[in-house]
Amino acid sequence: GRPLLTAENLVKHYKARDGDGLARAVDGVSLMLRKGETLGIVGESGCGKSTLARLVLRLIEPTSGRVLLDGEDILALKPGALRRRRRDMQIVFQDPFASLDPRMSVGRIIAEPLDIHNVGSPQERQRKVEDLLLMVGLDRSALDRYPHEFSGGQRQRIGIARAIALEPKLLVLDEPVSALDVSIQSQILNLLIDLKSRLDLSYIFISHDLSVVEHVSDRVLVMYLGRIVEEGTATQVLRQPRHPYTEALVSAVPGAKKGPRIVLKGDPPSPEAVPAGCRFHPRCPKVMDICRHTPPPSIAQGGSARAECHLYGPRPG
Ligand code: SF4
Ligand code: MG
Repeated sequence: GRPLLTAENLVKHYKARDGDGLARAVDGVSLMLRKGETLGIVGESGCGKSTLARLVLRLIEPTSGRVLLDGEDILALKPGALRRRRRDMQIVFQDPFASLDPRMSVGRIIAEPLDIHNVGSPQERQRKVEDLLLMVGLDRSALDRYPHEFSGGQRQRIGIARAIALEPKLLVLDEPVSALDVSIQSQILNLLIDLKSRLDLSYIFISHDLSVVEHVSDRVLVMYLGRIVEEGTATQVLRQPRHPYTEALVSAVPGAKKGPRIVLKGDPPSPEAVPAGCRFHPRCPKVMDICRHTPPPSIAQGGSARAECHLYGPRPG
């Protein structure tokens, strides 16, 4: 498919909490989502995934970089044009309880985007809301009830109904099943897979859970401390990982791969203290001298796969 969304060298730096420094939340990320594709983004909490999600939707402004949706530079859009463009790109959050207004009925929650964008007559909107409920596996009995009356899985269905109300092209799913019981997770994942083909959607699917990402993604990006350190097809990245960080993540998935579990030293550093050279070097089991001072380039790994790691570059000396 042709590119639906392209991000070029996105950077989001914040002023550090304690004064002088910078928090490098997203530190030079480029990505491309093809039409009809699911692009998975994996990484530990705090790696910048959610910031990246908000940047590509322009829910927050980047420090620098470009985002193109269907070839249009969305960072250049004036507020009115951006509001209209928002119909095409929606987000589903991790916690459906926090993201649904508890004082609004489910009918109003789902109708709100249709009201804001003045879609159809009131009767048409009402019919559309009922259709949306059916599409996500609920029914019109939900209309006059409130979010707290529903289970976590049902609330996520409501959040999804709201997100698809305006028939977007792109859905960004930020940990959409992480708050749910495992038995409910697969129901919601299957619903998302089904909606994607029925509604001609494209997904950016963010999760810390590799098995979930492998289940839904065509291609996968691995994020560490604000950068994409590895990318490729889901099979390449999750079955034949090249980057030592991905190897460690994959080794920790129960039953996913033969071989010993690679336990990394310590936690990821703060984005306010990004290590010099390869930002993974203090934790890397394969660290070399060059890694301590020289950032690794992105190196092709066959097919569309790439990894940012000196192991695959020309060896010094
Ligand atoms: Fe490890 Fe060096 Fe590769 Fe970084 S560049 S992941 S420190 S081997
Ligand atoms: Mg997050």
